[in-house]
Amino acid sequence: MPNLNATHDPTLRSWVDSANDGSTDFPIQNLPLGRFRRRGGTPQGGVAIGDRIVDLRAALALGLFDRASPQAREAARAACGDDLLPLLRLGNEAAGALRAHLCALLAANGAARAHAERLLVPQAEVEMLLPTTVRQFTDMCASTFHIGRQRGNDERGEPICPPVFRTLPVGYDGRASSVVCSGTPVRRPLGSWQEQLKSGALRFGPEPRQDYELELGAWIGGPGNRLGEPMGMNQAADALFGFSLVNDWSARGIQFWEAMLGPFLGKSLATTAAPWIVTAEALAPFRIPAFARPQGDPEVPTHLHSADDQRQGGFDITLESHLATADMRARCEPDLRLCSSNFRHMYWTFAQMVAHHASNGCALAAGDLIASGTCSGPALDEAACLAELHFAPSPTEPGGAAPRWLRDGDRVTLRGRAQREGYVAIGFGEASGELLPAPSWPDADTPR
Ligand code: MN
Repeated sequence: MPNLNATHDPTLRSWVDSANDGSTDFPIQNLPLGRFRRRGGTPQGGVAIGDRIVDLRAALALGLFDRASPQAREAARAACGDDLLPLLRLGNEAAGALRAHLCALLAANGAARAHAERLLVPQAEVEMLLPTTVRQFTDMCASTFHIGRQRGNDERGEPICPPVFRTLPVGYDGRASSVVCSGTPVRRPLGSWQEQLKSGALRFGPEPRQDYELELGAWIGGPGNRLGEPMGMNQAADALFGFSLVNDWSARGIQFWEAMLGPFLGKSLATTAAPWIVTAEALAPFRIPAFARPQGDPEVPTHLHSADDQRQGGFDITLESHLATADMRARCEPDLRLCSSNFRHMYWTFAQMVAHHASNGCALAAGDLIASGTCSGPALDEAACLAELHFAPSPTEPGGAAPRWLRDGDRVTLRGRAQREGYVAIGFGEASGELLPAPSWPDADTPR
């Protein structure tokens, strides 16, 4: 697992002024990776600093990597093209070399200051793209609080989950083609659903119970594993290249009717990912122990146990979801916070999810995106999707309103921030998407 080093020094400041504002997601201690496009330009790799992006192609052309270590130069070349996949393939050590060199270039006395004009691009002037074309997408389900909300608590006061849940991290294979970058509108899906939630006549039409799920996704980096060969826990931890916010848009009517083999059309309508990959190394200060299993739970399975992971496999990351309806936006009202949770509530660590995913020999590789599942905590204002509010014993939203599903024109925005005393807080940017009305069915004579 990445260690603390000079790049985490809380006294570091950048010559990029906006990076020193305490509220920015992107201080010099973060340096997340992303892919952007200037108006009329081609996609290229960059690194966020304050409200700017470091143009890595320009940095190389300006000679700013001429005196870098060969590994940092190789990493910059791998990241400056039209896709970040070559850098993901190189893995964490290369990303660490790139980070160290960029940190030196951007620090208050850094050599790049003289080239600010050519090196930096305002984030407001570019289009952000997904960091890479997603190779494979898996969605796990790692919060007992998410699963337990509709089942209640047991005699210990712990969320009731199916027995398998506490013995291994469950998940399903999603559709890579569904993953879109923040800002892309999402269509309400058509599908089959019952008139009431889990009862009533079956209908086909626009999903009436459209939901979101607040999640964190892990990008796989490095060599991955060969088909047929599992990964151990240490290998799985090394395969975690970085993390992005993920909204797993969920059509509950479709999902609850179809669920015999698991999620299918209720999930594949769209998944929104934030454009920035916050690297595993940037998150080193915010590591915490794995979730403390309540007394009476099964032991951590042997294949998912490592002392290192138990000691520091978790993350302290505040995760929030916000709603802005079309009306609210027209009146310039601020977003309404739906949920404020924390990744510390997850029962399984990302290394456990990845090691379990590969334990049957399933091949994982750079460019795979493994989402955590809904990041819910025990309290009602930590319910990281709307369905949980409908299932709560007295169904209310935080604030006392009756729960509702998403309406056409609603925009859901996810945010995340890691902070710890003695360190500079870092953020994840945004994963945002607006829900558009359902399409009409192509054949006019289809019965409704
Ligand atoms: Mn999900």
